[in-house]
Amino acid sequence: MKTDETARRPMVRAEQVHKSFGHVEVLKGIDLEVQPGEVMCVIGPSGSGKSTFLRCINHLEKIDAGRLWVDGHLVGYREKGGKLHELRDREVAEQRRDIGMVFQRFNLFPHMTALENVMEAPVRVKKEPKAEVRQRAVALLERVGLGDKIASYPAQLSGGQQQRVAIARALAMQPKLMLFDEPTSALDPELVGDVLDVMKQLAEDGMTMVVVTHEMGFAREVGDSLVFMDGGVVVESGAPREVLTNPQHPRTQDFLSKVL
Ligand code: ADP
Ligand code: MG
Repeated sequence: MKTDETARRPMVRAEQVHKSFGHVEVLKGIDLEVQPGEVMCVIGPSGSGKSTFLRCINHLEKIDAGRLWVDGHLVGYREKGGKLHELRDREVAEQRRDIGMVFQRFNLFPHMTALENVMEAPVRVKKEPKAEVRQRAVALLERVGLGDKIASYPAQLSGGQQQRVAIARALAMQPKLMLFDEPTSALDPELVGDVLDVMKQLAEDGMTMVVVTHEMGFAREVGDSLVFMDGGVVVESGAPREVLTNPQHPRTQDFLSKVL
């Protein structure tokens, strides 16, 4: 049972998150909240900062200003005596363990089978007993429809199958938050559906997800909320159906007229 307090706590909370690369300000004050169990889809033109924002949540980039919390923990910092202190590497690693990320490119270890890929992090990072992890990994591969491919190497799998292994691999760490960065953009069209089906199932099972995607059908059907980003800010957000059929901001209207 969740206590009232944890039930109310957002899984992700961003307050005026800023990020620059050199002189280029890529995130110009992102404000948003993702509630536990929510599926938030993020759309927006290329270069608008979507990947950078996901990477900030997962400690792959460090924010320059603002605050970012995951499950109530300040990302990258700890408050002590009213001051912010940077987290130690070990603390960062602890925070990252609870976050699964799936990229456009599958990044599987080529010399490992599907099963070994899924088992790798829990065994190596979490030092969990191999036999337990193996059981869980087999179950996860079955869940993503690859029960008959556990002994296959990435090169023997289609892009869609590899991406489903990548999802199972992220889930093996039993994350409380899953980040997807255009997970189907590199796939041949006929392979997209199987991956989206797995993500939809995951959403139905209650996983909290932030999904950067161009799949408007998925956003409409599976998303609880839809965020339109442009130029490093959240231009518009709301219920997916509302944003997609009745966009309020001219920039959203312009973007949707090009992609829908
Ligand atoms: P999106 O995912 O919405 O396409 P990104 O977050 O990848 O956008 O990129 C936003 C902007 O930040 C782009 O102009 C990109 O070139 C720049 N950018 C991203 N990562 C880096 C980096 N590591 N160094 C310099 N510029 C970067
Ligand atoms: Mg991107």
